[in-house]
Amino acid sequence: ALPSVSTSSASVAEEARAILARLGVPDSAFAPTGRPAASPITGEVIAHVRETTPDEAKAAIGRADAAFKAWRRIPAPKRGEFVRLLGEELRAAKEDLGRLVTLEAGKIVSEGLGEVQEMIDICDFAVGLSRQLYGLTIATERADHRMMETWHPLGVCGVISAFNFPVAVWSWNAALALVCGDSVVWKPSEKTLLTALATHAIAERAAKRFGGVPEGLLEVLLGGREIGEILVEDHRVPVLSATGSTAMGRQVGPKLAARFARAILELGGNNAAIVAPSADLDLALRGIAFAAMGTAGQRCTTLRRLFVHDSVYDQLVPRLVKVYGSAKIGDPRTEGTLIGPLIDKAAFEGMERALDEARSVGGTVHGGGRYTDMPGDGVYVRPALVEMPEQTGPVLRETFAPILYVMRYTDFDQVIELHNAVGAGLSSSIFTLNLREAETFVSAVGSDCGIANVNIGPSGAEIGGAFGGEKETGGGRESGSDAWKAYMRRATNTINFGTSLPLAQGVKFDV
Ligand code: NAD
Repeated sequence: ALPSVSTSSASVAEEARAILARLGVPDSAFAPTGRPAASPITGEVIAHVRETTPDEAKAAIGRADAAFKAWRRIPAPKRGEFVRLLGEELRAAKEDLGRLVTLEAGKIVSEGLGEVQEMIDICDFAVGLSRQLYGLTIATERADHRMMETWHPLGVCGVISAFNFPVAVWSWNAALALVCGDSVVWKPSEKTLLTALATHAIAERAAKRFGGVPEGLLEVLLGGREIGEILVEDHRVPVLSATGSTAMGRQVGPKLAARFARAILELGGNNAAIVAPSADLDLALRGIAFAAMGTAGQRCTTLRRLFVHDSVYDQLVPRLVKVYGSAKIGDPRTEGTLIGPLIDKAAFEGMERALDEARSVGGTVHGGGRYTDMPGDGVYVRPALVEMPEQTGPVLRETFAPILYVMRYTDFDQVIELHNAVGAGLSSSIFTLNLREAETFVSAVGSDCGIANVNIGPSGAEIGGAFGGEKETGGGRESGSDAWKAYMRRATNTINFGTSLPLAQGVKFDV
């Protein structure tokens, strides 16, 4: 049975435009000649967004640089007050902004709202952090001296973000950068310009309430990669956080390195889970289903590779195939929908190519293919579960679509090796009730990823932890823990409060 599409008669474009007006996005943001912003739900064009010209981008970076020079003088807890107000404004706008995420990025309603909740959470985190940007006092070998480490604002923080977390990624960076004393220039995905405009309008309301926010503290550059390149190449941007594909990171990373800018790279994932003989299979089934099919497979942490122990394979996999066949695909606005549209046709073509390739190397595909019984031009697909004889071909790379490759294993050490034998190193998990396996998986000789979980899937991180991954995922960390340090510069200070001048390491230099 096809899922009912109760809201299909309501125009996505009309609803989105009403939200943009309510959130205070000015008419000047739009122009008939601008870039079309379409909804993946129906393919409707919602609005034409005026793009930032290269000259405007450079001017915006200049304003942000000037704003930084004023903002760094504001005490950190006061900067935190601005972020507190931003969190309040986001709370007030949660329904609208969450809905706009659904309309523009195609996420189901609870995920659209969840994304805004994440923005609120990181604001709360950053407010507390604004009183905890601690340095150290370090023992010195010299008498009557004190050595300390202090953390100072760094400069303009560039943020390049991907379509699949159109607003949360900005907030992970911006909330921290702002309390750290940096200004922020954001280049959102060209596929999600409307949520960026809405977020900017919300932030401007917080700035107005705060009063005295320097002009240029928060800038947005709207356009494609050419505009992103301007941000990457500008020497006035000492730190750049770039979220997107590994291909993007390969272009951006060397350019940042060439000018010695700091790079926070948050790139693609090829995340795996292991289901061990002792696993709670009911729990594993739910964890796998959400991680692999949620967000239509368009999360950086989406589960893409599943290793199931031979002894439980025949119990688990047929059940999974059944769940794949019954998960509700449809309009993400409709209650009960679990799988909304892909972002565009290119994503579907990528999925088809990967499935063809999987078949050609011996894979058995369950599901997959276009789900055509939807009104409008949205691109909907059936999620695919592919039983693979071995980890080869498309299994080794990220295809940004709902494909789960399933493989059998028998030996724990071998499966850890296979788990780690891909380019990406973002997220991972193991389902086991065996203490040795669980602890080994999260130990130095276990998963090589930035995120390693036990008895939950690889997706759905909380903001309290540092988020990011190793290897081709880029090595950057954002969000919680001590990720804030990437947005500041560290100074080591030695202060002599005595009357003599002892030199370190006993060096003598008497003049
Ligand atoms: P994408 O790489 O196509 O684009 C991401 C952003 O980079 C966009 O804003 C784009 O305009 C910009 N960009 C692309 N090339 C650029 C260049 N040469 N210079 C400057 N900017 C450039 O990615 P996407 O399709 O929007 O998002 C999906 C990808 O993002 C997936 O690979 C996913 O795993 C990854 N992702 C990673 C994380 C993470 O935290 N690790 C989070 C979300 C998404």
